[in-house]
Amino acid sequence: MNILGIETTCDETSLALVADGQKIIDEITVSQILKHQPYGGVVPDLGAREHLTNLTQIGGEFITKLKNAGHSIDAVAVAAKVGLPPAVQVGEAYAAGLSKSLNVPLIPVNHVLAHLWGVWVDPTFDEKPVFPLLGLIVSGGHTQLISFDSPTEYEIIGDTLDDAVGEAFDKVASMLKLPYPGGPQIEENAKIGDSQAIDFPVPMKDDERLRFSFSGLKTAVRTYIDKERPKILPEMEKFFVADVAASFQDVAFQAIANKVNQALKETGHKTLVIGGGVAANQRLVDVLFREIANAGHQFDLFVPSLKYCTDNGSLIAGYAFNYAE
Ligand code: AMP
Ligand code: MG
Repeated sequence: MNILGIETTCDETSLALVADGQKIIDEITVSQILKHQPYGGVVPDLGAREHLTNLTQIGGEFITKLKNAGHSIDAVAVAAKVGLPPAVQVGEAYAAGLSKSLNVPLIPVNHVLAHLWGVWVDPTFDEKPVFPLLGLIVSGGHTQLISFDSPTEYEIIGDTLDDAVGEAFDKVASMLKLPYPGGPQIEENAKIGDSQAIDFPVPMKDDERLRFSFSGLKTAVRTYIDKERPKILPEMEKFFVADVAASFQDVAFQAIANKVNQALKETGHKTLVIGGGVAANQRLVDVLFREIANAGHQFDLFVPSLKYCTDNGSLIAGYAFNYAE
């Protein structure tokens, strides 16, 4: 069964045709990052307008290309429920029109859950994760731990009380005057920094609940920057930025690892699957490996390659297969 997936929840317009939930036949993604960069973040209405333009241009061409290559489209799936409302609505309206004109079912899927499907559509994985499993979503809008019995039977067992981890990365990057999107900038700058340089508090360390919080850490970083930056000589600025980035990054990931360990213990799951933009960060993977192993858990860790960490129509089409009639 071939499902056409449409993704427009944030700043990527993406369409993909995926066979049987795993095999990508073709995909196209247009990023809007350069359009939003001057504003230091994604502007929802601008995003919606760009999605509309992109879908009108590349959507039609993509579908014609699929048809010319002889591929059938058996259903249309769209990222729904979560995302920037004006942007999501553009995708939903386009998908509804398309499913009507092609006379095939429309399958709206939860964008956040679909993020976990990166590993299933990623062609670099020969072996796919086996359910039950623990899902960790680390994106610009969400930080969630989800216990899955099957692809469609799940319970959100951990969430953030305030900022999502990706959001905290973007905000700290902005405090350090690094361009948007900040996550990759923090990772890059942290490489020459000392993660032990600044002793930021690990969020929710003594909280027994499965909850994340990043706003306190963000404030601690802001306070530190405000106090210390004026003392820094211009030639040392680069190292100051690197140390703040490295120290913040490791503390944020330590907080995530602590709750992942707690969730593995509570659920008894032996498989951890990660999804979302922050999963692109190699340091997160290293910290998780180290901390989960230190806690003595036997586990398999699945992290999609960079392309399938971020928003992509393939995730939507792939995950939607689980809901197809
Ligand atoms: P998403 O919400 O899944 O589309 O992912 C976007 C979020 O992931 C943004 O907040 C980015 O800053 C963040 N992100 C992307 N790459 C990285 C990285 N290498 N390290 C940390 N955060 C990242
Ligand atoms: Mg996303």
